[in-house]
Amino acid sequence: MLEVKGLTKRFGGIMALCGVDLRLREGELAGLIGPNGSGKTTVFNVVTGIYRPDDGSVAIEGEPLVGLAPHKIQRMGIARTFQNIRLFRNLTVLDNVRAAYHPRVPYGPVSALCRTGRFVEGEKEIREKTMDLLALFSLQVRKDELARNLPYGDQRRLEIARALASEPKVLLLDEPAAGMNPSEVKALMEFLLEIRRRFRLTILLIEHRMRLAMGICERLIVMDFGTVIAEGTPSEIRNDRRVIEAYLGRGTHPDS
Ligand code: ADP
Ligand code: MG
Repeated sequence: MLEVKGLTKRFGGIMALCGVDLRLREGELAGLIGPNGSGKTTVFNVVTGIYRPDDGSVAIEGEPLVGLAPHKIQRMGIARTFQNIRLFRNLTVLDNVRAAYHPRVPYGPVSALCRTGRFVEGEKEIREKTMDLLALFSLQVRKDELARNLPYGDQRRLEIARALASEPKVLLLDEPAAGMNPSEVKALMEFLLEIRRRFRLTILLIEHRMRLAMGICERLIVMDFGTVIAEGTPSEIRNDRRVIEAYLGRGTHPDS
C-alpha cells in the first residue's frame, strides 16, 4: 500500500533521516516507534509532502509521490494528524470537519455565488457526510461548539475525523494517544480498530512509549537516529537488544 525506500533528510548538519525503508501492507495497523528525536515525525512530514527528501522514494499503490504538493498527496489517499493538534480552533466542530471535505462534484465560483442546484446539492451532501462522521465519533452533540472549547481527548478525535474527511486509504497518526489517561487510550485503541474496519484503512501510528504501541499495533517499526533499527511483531521487538539499548541509551525508559 505504501512503500518508502532509502529516505534521507538533512536539516543543516542534522541527519534527521538516513536511508529509511518501510512498507505498509494493505489493511494493517503498524506502529512507528523510537525515542524522541529519532526521526518519526520527519518520516510523516516527508511522506505527506511538507518536506522534500534529499534522497529516496515514496509510493502509494506503486504511484510515486515525492515532489508533489501536500494537497495532491492527500488526494492520492494519504491523510495525517499532527503531534501537536492542528484544528481551526475558532470554528465549530461541524465546520472543522466540513472544511476538510473536497466536493466530489466540482463546481466553480460562479455556481457557488449563484447558489445553483449543483452547488446546493454538493453542500448538502457534504453536510450529510459530516454529520455521519461526527455521529461515528460521538461528536454530534458537540457540533456547534468551538473546537478550542472541547476537552483534550475530543480534540484529538476531531482531528482524526478531519483526516478521514479526505477519504484516505492510508492514515498516519502522530502520537494520537499523547496526553491521554489509560482508559482514554483503551477507548482510542478500540476506536482505531473500528475505523480501520469501517473505512478499510491502512494505519501507521507513531508512539514513543513502547508498551503502549505494543498494545495497539500488529507490527512495529523501530527507529533510532534516523534509521530503522528493528521491525517485527510486538513479541519480537520486546526482546530485541538493540531496541532496549536505543531507549536506555537515550536515558529514557521504553514506557515513559
Ligand atoms: P521524533 O518525531 O522521532 O521525535 P523528529 O522527526 O521530530 O523526531 O526529529 C528528528 C530530528 O530532526 C531531531 O533531531 C529534530 O530536532 C530534527 N528536526 C526535525 N524537524 C526539523 C526542522 N524542521 N528543522 C530542523 N531540525 C529538525
Ligand atoms: Mg515526533
